[in-house]
Amino acid sequence: SVELKDIHVSFGTLEVLRGVNLKVPSGSTTCVIGPSGSGKSTLLRCVNRLQEPDSGDLLLDGESVIASDPDALRQRVGMVFQHFNLFGHRSVLDNIVLPLRSVRGLSKEDAAGVARARLAEVGLADKAPYRPAALSGGQQQRVAIARALAMEPEVMLFDEATSALDPELVKGVLDLMAGLASRGLTLIVVTHEMGFARSVADEVAFMDAGRIVEQGVPEQVFEAPASPRLQQFLSQVL
Ligand code: ATP
Ligand code: MG
Repeated sequence: SVELKDIHVSFGTLEVLRGVNLKVPSGSTTCVIGPSGSGKSTLLRCVNRLQEPDSGDLLLDGESVIASDPDALRQRVGMVFQHFNLFGHRSVLDNIVLPLRSVRGLSKEDAAGVARARLAEVGLADKAPYRPAALSGGQQQRVAIARALAMEPEVMLFDEATSALDPELVKGVLDLMAGLASRGLTLIVVTHEMGFARSVADEVAFMDAGRIVEQGVPEQVFEAPASPRLQQFLSQVL
């Protein structure tokens, strides 16, 4: 499980996370929704400590990792970004091989084997020798997912992984994410795709102004929102 306890983050005088509590059981998927600037990305970045909170605790499987080695944590917690963050001047294969060698310490041959297997899993075995720019946005995002999966993480974080994609490419990536959800990974997914949240999430958390204002199963959050702010948000996005 992933657990955030009373997480606070400020940038100067701006308090961006104001005491966030969230528990995501192992093997389950939580979607985080909410307006722009509400702190969704900052919350996600706290989970692999790209952002260090000012206070609060982060637990993985019940054990605090808030003061542990961040690199060790990032092997257990993979992250996929809106803009893919691939190395543009390296091949698709190398994009997966290089971190496998530097982070997991695999030999060149072993890393290439794992990378090819992961590429095949996301349907891109034939793209191994190409530069990322030769791929569609959806394919690049699937490479980024394959790269994260190659680390064999327990937890995967997705920050608006489909927001930069052309509409016709969104479904392929969402289907891949839904597949991960169904095979036992623990996912935290920041998304504007309400259909995905409704059909895939075990729980949906609604953030507003640095707090999780409401959380529950999708049916409850979407069909019977309790807070006026969530009602207003849903009336704008649905
Ligand atoms: P969006 O839906 O637009 O991606 P978000 O919910 O992900 O928004 P965050 O990116 O977490 O929101 O940002 C929350 C607030 O914190 C915003 O007001 C943002 O400007 C501010 N913020 C985020 N990162 C920094 C930073 N490194 N320095 C200063 N302010 C920041
Ligand atoms: Mg964001």
